[in-house]
Amino acid sequence: MRFSRLYAPTLKEAPRDAEVVSHKLLARAGYIRQLTSGIYSFLPLGLRALNKVAAIVREEMNRAGAQEVLLPMVQPADLWKETGRWEFYGKELLRLKDRKDSDFCLGPTHEEVITDLVRHEVRSYRQLPLNLYQIQTKFRDEIRPRFGLMRCREFTMKDAYSFDRDDAGADVSYKSMYDAYTRIFRRLGLRFKAVEADSGSIGGSFSHEFMVLAETGEDTIAACLAENCDYAANLEKAEAVCSLDDCPECCGQYAKVATPGAHTVEEVAAFLGVSPRAIVKTLLYDVDGRPVAALVRGDRELNEVKLKNALDATEVRMASEEQVKAWSGAPVGFAGPVGLSVDVIVADRELRSLTGLIVGANEADAHLKDVDISRDVPSATFADLRNVGEGDVCPRCRTALTLSKGIEVGHVFKLGTKYSKAMKATYLDEDGKERIIVMGCYGIGVSRIVASAIEQNHDADGLLLPPSIAPFEAVVVSLAGKDPAAAAKAEDIYRELGALGLDVLLDDRDERPGVKFKDADLIGLPMQLVVGAKGLERGVVEIKCRKTGTRAELPLQGFAETFA
Ligand code: ATP
Ligand code: MG
Ligand code: MG
Ligand code: MG
Repeated sequence: MRFSRLYAPTLKEAPRDAEVVSHKLLARAGYIRQLTSGIYSFLPLGLRALNKVAAIVREEMNRAGAQEVLLPMVQPADLWKETGRWEFYGKELLRLKDRKDSDFCLGPTHEEVITDLVRHEVRSYRQLPLNLYQIQTKFRDEIRPRFGLMRCREFTMKDAYSFDRDDAGADVSYKSMYDAYTRIFRRLGLRFKAVEADSGSIGGSFSHEFMVLAETGEDTIAACLAENCDYAANLEKAEAVCSLDDCPECCGQYAKVATPGAHTVEEVAAFLGVSPRAIVKTLLYDVDGRPVAALVRGDRELNEVKLKNALDATEVRMASEEQVKAWSGAPVGFAGPVGLSVDVIVADRELRSLTGLIVGANEADAHLKDVDISRDVPSATFADLRNVGEGDVCPRCRTALTLSKGIEVGHVFKLGTKYSKAMKATYLDEDGKERIIVMGCYGIGVSRIVASAIEQNHDADGLLLPPSIAPFEAVVVSLAGKDPAAAAKAEDIYRELGALGLDVLLDDRDERPGVKFKDADLIGLPMQLVVGAKGLERGVVEIKCRKTGTRAELPLQGFAETFA
């Protein structure tokens, strides 16, 4: 590719709404352009990077025995009604009607569609296990699209779905995907950590998230410091698990002490006139309406097992007064009268929708019932918190935990029979007996990875993308100016490297050297080869490693062999 022909409009200034470095640099380096909030066009450089990530994901999925398919993005509401998610999924689901007035949505995820596909074709145990995946555009009408490619409304996801005869089979599939993810993120050159996670609105029995470690991450990870313990969890999960009195693994180590004035589940339930089992989540806000604490009681989708566990806890456990003060930076006390508000999220009888029902300072008379909470309730999670759990200990070995920020780039779920049961996806076993298929689902944020890689790899001058993600492996910077011999040499080098199978960009533009160097640094290709008259006189070209800044001279004699 020649830079003179490349559509890579670079910018001196980042867009005004760009808050994080990846967003700024992707725009400045001409990788992406915003069309409208949370919706981006990929320009040639951006698309090349995206395709490189997709290629690695594809290779490792195929290696793990998954088969690629491509499912429709427009999905009929009827399928979503079968699983109850038409009501439950909320506003992230973009709904539309066709000319016949039938309801549809743009796929934010594909459990319904894939389960429908499989239930019609799979009849016998001989057809299982099966793992199908796709790399496709998803649409989620995120309440707060931000950070460029990190939280879009339209984005590229790899989603895989496994179908097994039984639980043991599903565990094997899960492990195989977990291992494939580990290989993928290693090959992509990312610093990451797999953590235990809450299963969110997808539901299911257990799950792990793959987190790219970066300060700008929206999730908080608690990880054990002990050498022989690998416990790590998304804080949301850590809190959710450990607020259970009968947690199989711990002992309420995370549970924040209930301060004087905290209500029991029974008290709150009586106030609301609902059954205690309906209370699934409690959120605390400071005087400015910022979320300062949250308590998740069981799965948001009310997985039966978790709900049962949550019921056994007798108190709505809350943060201590000191912690709330520290988090919110506001002069409030949880039990005090100073404007701290509490939302209790209650599930309705069918255990489908979640409703915010009460707000008010945490005093008996200060609560308001049945208010309309205009705040973004579902997005207020522990990820919004700072410094939670400082001093907490590992539920496994009781060593101190550290907290760090992470960007969720992958998520593996063991779904069990949640979707297959609701949609009657069954097979006949060896004895001709009808059984429900056991499922798993596995997502990777392909476009989010490009942003995450930049969050981890950049400097003041631009991107430092790992070779596995960079749109080209090298740029040949021709400083030939008006010297046709030097220009021809740059062309030779460009062609030779291309013939060796390297992805190379030739900067053949009629620009000053300073402009070329600046752009080369900004777009951040791993290797720069500088071909100028001076070097050529001495029979050398200069090679610069973008990441380390190391420079060396390579003799032209036998030049190509260096790269072979
Ligand atoms: P988040 O917690 O960041 O909202 P999620 O848990 O809702 O993500 P999943 O349903 O687990 O996302 O989807 C699988 C993967 O898709 C995520 O791990 C993430 O990498 C990616 N992803 C999810 N939402 C977005 C988004 N709005 N923009 C870009 N990538 C996303
Ligand atoms: Mg989400
Ligand atoms: Mg998540
Ligand atoms: Mg997730």
